[in-house]
Amino acid sequence: MNLESIYGLTSEQLTTWLLERGHKKGRAAQVWDWLYRKRVTDFSEMKDVNKDCLQLLQEHFSIQTLTEHTKQESADGTVKFLFNLKDGSLIETVLMRHKYGLSVCVTTQVGCNIGCSFCASGLLKKDRDLSSGEIVEQIMKVQLHLDQVGQGEKVSHIVIMGIGEPFDNFKNMVDFLEIVKDQKGLEIGPRHITVSTSGLAEKIYEFADLKLQVNLAISLHAPNDELRTRIMKINRAIPLSKLMPAIDYYIEKSNRRITLEYILLKDVNDQKEHAQELAELIGGRRAYVNLIPYNPVDEHSQYQRSDEQSVLAFYDVLKKNGINCGIRIEHGTDIDAACGQLRSKQIKQAK
Ligand code: SAH
Ligand code: SF4
Repeated sequence: MNLESIYGLTSEQLTTWLLERGHKKGRAAQVWDWLYRKRVTDFSEMKDVNKDCLQLLQEHFSIQTLTEHTKQESADGTVKFLFNLKDGSLIETVLMRHKYGLSVCVTTQVGCNIGCSFCASGLLKKDRDLSSGEIVEQIMKVQLHLDQVGQGEKVSHIVIMGIGEPFDNFKNMVDFLEIVKDQKGLEIGPRHITVSTSGLAEKIYEFADLKLQVNLAISLHAPNDELRTRIMKINRAIPLSKLMPAIDYYIEKSNRRITLEYILLKDVNDQKEHAQELAELIGGRRAYVNLIPYNPVDEHSQYQRSDEQSVLAFYDVLKKNGINCGIRIEHGTDIDAACGQLRSKQIKQAK
């Protein structure tokens, strides 16, 4: 039977659910503690929880809905997990080690409908959205892996940059954020969480109004409409004239700077003129530009990675124009580059 993942409920939802079935208020907190602090993987391990309550939970929910398909560990400590969902779909989750802590990159959809021309995830159309529980469980699986390693390490940061467009699975993504932020559970600070979107402007307004205090990253990748439409077809429906005001609204509402992601594609968007145009587009906005080295994707052979000289020249132009920026450090390049690539390779092999 396909039971829903218990990780998908916020503590408030779990409290209400149990109250409605005659269980007293403290019960949900107890269950929550077993799930996120003691991190059991079976209801029978929740020792002090009332038997009737456990039975009820067991009848309606599952703790484990993901199964590990493969796990690859890189020399720099990056670990890529490929998970099977209950329906057999494959998703990818990545653990990265930084000086400031451990971050996990999660997947939000099986495939992606935005279809950016450089991305491995967009090669396969979206099959379905992940439930909030399936997104939370990715973090739990990584945390359980760390628990097993036994160094006492904790996931401290989250990036929603795996397969899928998070703003196209808005409600589940927001529930996911509520759950991982909860101070009774994983307690991951909102400032340690980054959501990346291809720029669904209407959802950016909605997200800003929620005031969740998480970091927002926008996949910009080009300084003008002509070029952006060429590499990201979503720009036809949502051009810069719609996207930039949404970005301004987020900065104003959250009182935080925004991150603009810019993949450097050789001879496509990596010239000094592009950097100059980008600086002018950004102007005085509170923004940080993250320059991303492109991870080549077999099916997108029209794109190559920019050479180091061009990357540095691009960076210099931005800096000279007073733009806050940095070049992203890569993780796990020896295992399988960007998110979505391991999955797409696995699917190709299976065909
Ligand atoms: N759909 C969302 C989040 C997932 S993609 C978005 O597009 O923002 C996360 C980031 O990885 C995006 O900035 C995306 O443009 C980038 N990306 C996709 N394919 C890449 C590749 N082959 N090399 C480097 N970055 C890539
Ligand atoms: Fe989807 Fe993001 Fe990939 Fe574009 S870059 S196809 S939005 S996952």
